Amino acid sequence: MPELPEVETTRRGLEPHLAGQTILRLTVHDHRLRWPVAAGLPQTLAGQRVESVERRAKYLLLRLTHGTVLWHLGMSGSLRIVPSGLPTEPHDHIDLALTSGHTVRFNDPRRFGCVIYVTGDPQAHPLLAKLAPEPFAAAFDAGYLWRVSRRRKVSVKQLIMNGQVVTGVGNIYASEVLFHSGIRPRRQSRSLKRAEVTRLVTAIRKVLKQAIRVGGTTLRDYVNPEGNPGYFRQKLYVYERAGEPCRNCDTLIRSLTQGQRSTYYCPTCQS
Ligand SMILES: [Zn+2]
Repeated sequence: MPELPEVETTRRGLEPHLAGQTILRLTVHDHRLRWPVAAGLPQTLAGQRVESVERRAKYLLLRLTHGTVLWHLGMSGSLRIVPSGLPTEPHDHIDLALTSGHTVRFNDPRRFGCVIYVTGDPQAHPLLAKLAPEPFAAAFDAGYLWRVSRRRKVSVKQLIMNGQVVTGVGNIYASEVLFHSGIRPRRQSRSLKRAEVTRLVTAIRKVLKQAIRVGGTTLRDYVNPEGNPGYFRQKLYVYERAGEPCRNCDTLIRSLTQGQRSTYYCPTCQS
């Protein structure tokens, strides 16, 4: 599933191809996404200029002359830049053709993605209005996470994966974050000490930043029709490494199940 770093990588890959371009036409090959693509969308978008490409949580925001397109990649979606006219392949559902001769192509086998057009302030849209702070925003600091952690009767892993606490920490990154924080995943969030909360904030930013940076290095492939965004190329310390030696201390990495998701940790480095 595309997580925040992959969406940010996608944003960075798209922006230079989209900003300043005018939309020639939107072609919907299959409108059956998470919510059906509005029938009038092609007409609405044609002729509008893309001012910028932004991101909020896992939504891409295409700022246009008169409104904003909210684009979510769902469970399996990806956006690529291809030469206009390139034949579509299975699961290519939407083409956004630009005056540059390039097309933004949306592929989504499981069709949980969505494309929604909004006028007015997109941040006020119900899908975005209640989202927690971005991990890189000033509002997400140790004081904030400390206050939130006192109020919740959940494990620390559930705390940081809760999209109403902070956006962008998916299952893979949660294990990595906890490793870098030295905190065991099953600890109750209320048991965290202030210094541990501070380490958590630092680790969340560090792990996500690193993932974005590594994703960024694969952008060269981005315009290549054969290229796929390089998800999860970063060096993982614990995720899916059960039974392998810890990269810090050689203790064997353990795994457990929390909320039906796999969690990985080092019993020596994390307490
Ligand atoms: Zn270790």
